[in-house]
Parts: sequence; structure tokens; C-alpha cells
Amino acid sequence: MTTDTDSDSDGTDTGDSPPCCKIGRGIQKYDCSDLNDRLVEAYTINDASLRDLERIVNESFIRAVLNDIDDSDFRRLGDAVTTTPSELLDVLTGDDRSERARAETILDQAGVDVDGLRSDFISYRTAKKHLNQCLDIDTSRKAPEPVTRTDAQDTIEWAETRCERVVGRTIERLQATHDDIPASNTSVSVSTRVTCSDCGVTKPVTAYITDGCDCPAQ
Ligand SMILES: [Zn+2]
Ligand SMILES: [Zn+2]
Repeated sequence: MTTDTDSDSDGTDTGDSPPCCKIGRGIQKYDCSDLNDRLVEAYTINDASLRDLERIVNESFIRAVLNDIDDSDFRRLGDAVTTTPSELLDVLTGDDRSERARAETILDQAGVDVDGLRSDFISYRTAKKHLNQCLDIDTSRKAPEPVTRTDAQDTIEWAETRCERVVGRTIERLQATHDDIPASNTSVSVSTRVTCSDCGVTKPVTAYITDGCDCPAQ
């Protein structure tokens, strides 16, 4: 009987220092040792936003995966979808189901654990935490101007009213100049809804201002 590996204890125990966080685990898994330097440079020198950093990390993971697949699979992926990491990220996280399925099928056939890859993707919140806690970089300098809930409500109502007026006037002009559109009494109402792509919740903006979405609070 051979006991060739001792990897039952979930593989984190490799002698290297333990990964700092989800990004650290990804850096180890996808062997992106230059990623921290690139994040620091992007944030401190190139003025990247946390959303930009989120993309830099996720694209790096995709690039590592693409580097590992066979040339023939790579070509097939390029012919069918794309082999540009940033475009592939949009495909894998986007709403176009057929395009996403096409990419997933080819990656799957190339031996890529697509679900694993997707669950390794990080959010801008993780990027922020990694910068603050693991790389000791203060991100508070980019904190947005504070706004009270009342001021936010006022601004949104102002924008909605303005939008209603512009749309209403446009419809009146349309009615006045197109014989096939009846000049009846129409009214326009705008009700803004907010969708969070992280937790999937959609709600009226007024409810969002009070309660936020279903993501865990910071
Ligand atoms: Zn970290
Ligand atoms: Zn959310």
C-alpha cells in the first residue's frame, strides 16, 4: 500500500504561510504571485477603484486558467466566445445565458472546474478588506462624500420629477407631430428601482434607502 500524499487535511497545509483571505487563497491556487504588487500599484499609483481591483483579481484567475488549458481548447474557446480574460469574466458573470453556457461547456471539456472558478471570484468588498487588513493600505481616502438619507431622498425625487417632465413633454411633442399617436391625456410616472447584482434583490429606491439590500452589512 502506498501513502503518496497526505493531502486529506484540505491542502492548506503546504508549509507556506497560510493564505490571508479569499484573495490570498486564490493567489496560491492560481499561482498569481505578482497579484498583490499589481493591486498595490493599481490602487496607489493608477488611482484604480475597488471595482477595478475586483476585476484585476478575477481576470488574473481567469488568465491563469486559460494559461493551463490545451492550445486546441484555447482556440475553440476563442472561436466560440472569447479568450480575452476581461471579456470572459463578463461572459461568465453576465446575463447572456447561451453565451455563458457555450463558454462553460468548452471550459468544462478543457478540464476546468468552472463552478470552482466562479466561486473563487471576489467582490470589491473582499478587495477592500484585502487592501485594508492584509496589505495594510488605507482605502478611506476614497470614501465618498457622506449624504443623509433625507438628502438622498430629495435628490432622487428631484431627478424622478425632472425625468417625468422631460418624458411627458417628449410624448406631447410626439402626439402633436404624429397622426398615428392619439393626442389623449397621458401622464408619465417614474419609479426608480434598485437591483443589487450581489444578492439579486430588486426593490423601490425608497425601500433601498431605508433598508439597503440583502447583502450582509459592513
Ligand atoms: Zn488577503
Ligand atoms: Zn445586495
